[in-house]
Amino acid sequence: MSDRYASFANSGPGRMLVKRLGLPNPPVLRRFRPGDPLVTGPVLVGAAPGGRLEGPVRKMLTVAEVPMDGGPPWSALVFDASGVQDAAALHPLYEFFHGNAKALARNGRVIVLGTPPAACASPREATAQRALEGLTRSIGKEFGRGSTAQLIYVAPGAEEFTDSAMRFLLSSRSAYVSGQVIRIGPVTSSPLTDWEHPLEGKVALVTGAAQGIGAAIARVLARDGARVVALDVPAAGEALARVANEIGGTALQLDLTRPDAPSTLAAQLLSRHGKVDVVVHNAGITRDKTIAKMSAEQWDAVVDVNLSSQERINDALIPLLPEGGRIIAVSSTSGIAGNRGQTNYATSKAGVIGLVQSMAPILASQGVTINAVAPGFIETRMTARMPLATREVGRRMNSLSQGGLPVDVAETIAWLAAPGSSGITGNVIRVCGQMWLGA
Ligand code: NAD
Repeated sequence: MSDRYASFANSGPGRMLVKRLGLPNPPVLRRFRPGDPLVTGPVLVGAAPGGRLEGPVRKMLTVAEVPMDGGPPWSALVFDASGVQDAAALHPLYEFFHGNAKALARNGRVIVLGTPPAACASPREATAQRALEGLTRSIGKEFGRGSTAQLIYVAPGAEEFTDSAMRFLLSSRSAYVSGQVIRIGPVTSSPLTDWEHPLEGKVALVTGAAQGIGAAIARVLARDGARVVALDVPAAGEALARVANEIGGTALQLDLTRPDAPSTLAAQLLSRHGKVDVVVHNAGITRDKTIAKMSAEQWDAVVDVNLSSQERINDALIPLLPEGGRIIAVSSTSGIAGNRGQTNYATSKAGVIGLVQSMAPILASQGVTINAVAPGFIETRMTARMPLATREVGRRMNSLSQGGLPVDVAETIAWLAAPGSSGITGNVIRVCGQMWLGA
């Protein structure tokens, strides 16, 4: 479904009219193409006194051959706030962003780094670190022109493990991710990463891969080097085969709600690939009705496909996952904010967040990470079916005034799947252009 309003707003006459009437002004977002440089111009790095992250960040930028001088326009503004000990010490952030707000290029990036409040030594420090969320999310809403803003909380001891998150958030892979708070925990080791093909040698299962977001995930994981096992229901067999052939992967026709699905899946993965490294739970359905009008079947079907099947598949596949294994579950912003007519869907998607957060500490001892990705309004067949007015509201009610693309969700999943992301677990990353609902 093409966004005709966005095309109009970016045309000559459209631009004038949009400005005069004060209508939403969706910028053209730059998206990643293989071979693109990490950033398109110099990055400005600032820091509050006493920070522990400026050094590692500068090292990462140097290795990635990113210039840190040369003057504006800056492709990114990065600020190490980990040294901030109390509210008064937040002032350097005001100076930095006040002075450079206008010098950020189109599609620019803002990244603030801090210490997780729970890891702070005093309530004053925890208070000031928590305050960074308000600053970062507001910048995401203010700067416009396709820019994004994120906060990364880096636990003490994890200073050397920020590269994967920094690279993703600086690059155009994160075009539709904004206003997020990412937590990087301590890790004992992080394998060397080939940043071009981080998933080389990995076997990745993607459920619901015949179309939409799942097909995009399969393509991006294959681009990053993974051997992809693309799974979908037998009724979607033809489309599934097309996706699998296109990426040199394997098609697996299986209805995830069948009682024997977990054991069949485990057996197939072992016999055909000898292992599985990455599990992406993407398959999902909607059966929308207000709860007063919803049938028991509609409730049960959605909870079973979207949530219970993930739990059953995890039970069968977790014992097969090696150290460095990854589970990534697709949730939804409906699971965070709730949504009229979607009690079943929002219940299942909030449950996915519960699943990820409760399993993360358990899987940590196995060296496996588990995270959720919560898409907002993504341009797919699911959203194309919405009534016009609802669709327009969904598209515009976010900081980027447009819907995301399936590839935006896929890039986020590929980042979490990468070996360098070993410090990221139990996170919920929204891919929603900083949607205004349930922020
Ligand atoms: P889609 O309907 O286009 O694709 C879902 C796929 O899952 C289909 O190919 C379907 O056949 C498969 N599937 C459904 N039940 C299955 C089962 N029992 N066994 C195996 N496969 C099954 O949907 P989409 O828009 O690409 O969404 C993908 C995921 O993203 C879903 O979990 C959805 O809830 C979530 N999501 C989508 C949006 C959006 O805006 N499109 C927003 C938030 C979350």
